[in-house]
Amino acid sequence: METIRNYIGGKLVEPAAGQYLDNVNPATGEVYGQIPDSDATDIEAATKAAKEAFASWSSLSNEERSKHLLAVADLIDQNHEKLAMAESVDNGKPLKLAGRVDIPRASANFRFFATAIVHFSSESHMMGDEAINYTQRSPVGVAGCISPWNLPLYLFTWKIAPALAAGNTVVAKPSELTPMTAYLLSALCIEAGLPAGVLNIVHGLGTKAGQAIVEHPEIPMISFTGGTNTGKSIAATAAPMFKKLSLELGGKNPNIIFADCDFDLALKTSIHSSFSNQGEICLCGSRIYVERPIYEKFKEEFVARTKALTVGDPLEDGTKVGALVSKGHMEKVLSYIDLAKEEGGTILAGGEQVKLNGRCNNGFYVAPTVVEGLDHTCRTNQEEVFGPFVTLTPFDSEDEVIEYANSTNYGLSATVYTENLKRAHTVAARLKSGIVWINCWLLRDLRTPFGGMKQSGVGREGGLEALRFFTEPKNVCVKI
Ligand code: NAD
Repeated sequence: METIRNYIGGKLVEPAAGQYLDNVNPATGEVYGQIPDSDATDIEAATKAAKEAFASWSSLSNEERSKHLLAVADLIDQNHEKLAMAESVDNGKPLKLAGRVDIPRASANFRFFATAIVHFSSESHMMGDEAINYTQRSPVGVAGCISPWNLPLYLFTWKIAPALAAGNTVVAKPSELTPMTAYLLSALCIEAGLPAGVLNIVHGLGTKAGQAIVEHPEIPMISFTGGTNTGKSIAATAAPMFKKLSLELGGKNPNIIFADCDFDLALKTSIHSSFSNQGEICLCGSRIYVERPIYEKFKEEFVARTKALTVGDPLEDGTKVGALVSKGHMEKVLSYIDLAKEEGGTILAGGEQVKLNGRCNNGFYVAPTVVEGLDHTCRTNQEEVFGPFVTLTPFDSEDEVIEYANSTNYGLSATVYTENLKRAHTVAARLKSGIVWINCWLLRDLRTPFGGMKQSGVGREGGLEALRFFTEPKNVCVKI
């Protein structure tokens, strides 16, 4: 049994009230550790440590801060196998996926912002020969960073790295469902010699430890990734306090396949974009729209490939679909399968819980599920399921599919398959999504703006957008 501790003021410490929560391995359903059930007292201690560290951290040169972050990135790489295993056990995702995607991306986040900050510059605006304006960009203070369970270390570092690179200190909370890699990161930060108090990691429930971060008067900025309803509640608390807010929220992403596409590419990539990480990626394409001339062929081959995906022990090499993150989440996904049936959908693949033998007998597994025959306005096509669940719908025209695609309250990402260049650009322009992939999915350049429209979020992360969010601009006008 591993007991996780908070990382406050450079030390690993017990929660003040001495309370703990169970940490469950979703692959087996067994409790395998304890995590601090932190409260406002722990957040207060972390904020105090972060405030004390701010003056010295923010006055380091960009190059010095960069060296610290690169040291952390190196240690993440050196501990790749241990971290990948921890991520898989905590989250239920296939070990291979954690090793190929989650952990390399976590060190890449540190490396990217460690190097970005030494190239970061601010603007100047000349007013003829009358005056010059220049923009100073200063760190804001203590940043509150709150992250979800689906890509635990990957999304945690996506916030922490730019916040620290820009000269802020941080109070961060990972999801209570997947705390382990953030805990291991705190040990690596100590080993890397990160100055005490610069990064503080507090574990616990969203409504308790998370809420205490959002409410804290000395944390002037909140960077949050998670569900849309949680985002609403965070905004309701933070907005009247005039905090800077970055919200990365849910999605219900369309995957649009035109008849003139590269069929094999569209088919193969759609399998990935539907079921990677058990469909628990905010960017997964869960509404698949296929142009009618190729609908039947696509359906037949997509269903066959879905049925061939191995649902299994995340630690086994051949597993393509691992466990869902928790019993509660598995039940939510199963309830949407029931809803799809009630709404008149036909289950073409999956549609049920999977019971594995051996050590995974009590784990949380759902068969990759494909449903057809649902109207684009029904709840299963409007609400985020966030599991191995997709719908298939035919369409006849570009206008029709744009209407379907834009019909939800979400607007995070969209995927389009076509070999027609003109169509690719016009459809991309008409989609109300923060990210559009043409003939690919999840191809990420960390310099690009990342985030969603409508109820998928407020603001953008990535590249300069993140460094701008984590700094406060000040215009200085000098008369010549
Ligand atoms: P969640 O909203 O339940 O929790 C996210 C984090 O917020 C957790 O750390 C949780 O403890 C904390 N939290 C919960 N209530 C809080 C409160 N009142 N105050 C402060 N913090 C609180 O989300 P989740 O279930 O962990 O993650 C799944 C969701 O995240 C999905 O909706 C998914 O689409 C979304 N997501 C979005 C992106 C993106 O970039 N847009 C990326 C990944 C996941």
